[in-house]
Amino acid sequence: ASAMASEIEAALAAVPSDGPTIFDKIINKEIPANVVFEDDKVLAFRDIAPQAPTHILIIPKVRDGLTRLSKAEERHCEILGRLLYTAKLVAKQEGLEDGFRVVINDGPQAGQSVYHIHVHVLGGRQMNWPPG
Ligand code: C5P
Repeated sequence: ASAMASEIEAALAAVPSDGPTIFDKIINKEIPANVVFEDDKVLAFRDIAPQAPTHILIIPKVRDGLTRLSKAEERHCEILGRLLYTAKLVAKQEGLEDGFRVVINDGPQAGQSVYHIHVHVLGGRQMNWPPG
């Protein structure tokens, strides 16, 4: 199967839940990640299966119920803004001055495979529209 098919298979196999995810282990440094930016609220690291020359994930260090965008509540507005602002900082740090793409996959139909909200930053090649 192609890499894309296996990613979608993983997404369809992932049960949307409120339990711990692999990203908790990355936050707790139990498993290594290639961290490119970190502050007290967010962590940014390179995706293990990059879909572009630059492919970074930005996550909140505290999930607070934000397994996916569709679970967002008013109290999450500040962290949601910080995730997006961090996308800008990371894009600049990566030298993506010709542009970049920001993606949030929500749920099985979007291909979400990890239920800890994350912002993808993709760049370094021409992006296509519509996305797959
Ligand atoms: O949006 P989606 O839930 O599909 O994104 C999850 C992403 O997390 C995938 O791009 C996958 O490659 C990445 N991942 C990772 N490191 C892990 C597990 C997943 O970078 N240990």
